[in-house]
Amino acid sequence: MTHPNFFVIFEVKNLSGKLIFDTEYNQLIRQQEDREDYYKDPIQQVNHQHFQLENWLKRHRFNDRIPIYSFVVIVNENAKIEPKNKGDLISKKVARDTKLLDTIISLHKTHKKAFFTNNDLRNLQELLIKKHIPSDPELLNLLKLNREDLLTGVFCPECSRCPLKRIHGRWICLDCSTISKNAHLQALRDYALLINPTITNVELRKYLHTDSEAVANYILISLDLDYEGITKSRIYNLSPLQTEIKE
Ligand SMILES: [Zn+2]
Repeated sequence: MTHPNFFVIFEVKNLSGKLIFDTEYNQLIRQQEDREDYYKDPIQQVNHQHFQLENWLKRHRFNDRIPIYSFVVIVNENAKIEPKNKGDLISKKVARDTKLLDTIISLHKTHKKAFFTNNDLRNLQELLIKKHIPSDPELLNLLKLNREDLLTGVFCPECSRCPLKRIHGRWICLDCSTISKNAHLQALRDYALLINPTITNVELRKYLHTDSEAVANYILISLDLDYEGITKSRIYNLSPLQTEIKE
């Protein structure tokens, strides 16, 4: 999860049964019914991702002093979390998904200083796009981002405010008053690369923060995209937008 003041990496595990975290031998033991399964230590895994992210930021000259937190998140209700050894700091690194909101709120309260501007976060995304890693899930995985972590909406081409408001067929920035007719293009390119190369009317409305089906329709038609399906269930192919990116 990216936030201007801190980043959080979540390694999500959907395992059920008794999960025994063995930090001494770096393994996760799952006991269920009469069997035992063994997995790589997710704490070590998430620590490694943490290290990689720090290096990645440094390498690409982003502010690498931004605090980064990393957690293993257990999402399965039928899991019992258990440290193998007493004194293991499992409780600091492993959490249930239900605790995440509290964790984020508390990080929010304790980190008042911004290390990234919205613009920086935007550049971070753009850099990933420029790296041209072909498949979208890979792009998100590279930074351990979930789809929900991405800022959605149309960005202001001048000041990077997001989202812009659509008024009378144009995108208006309420901060710097910039007016743009096609600022949604970049947003849809990002969508194609980071989320999905195809989009429906409903998805477009949600992503561009517009309630109007007619507006979404207008935008989709004006882009002259190939599509499959009829009327409301049409699936539009955004891929041609990507090849239009020129450096
Ligand atoms: Zn603006």
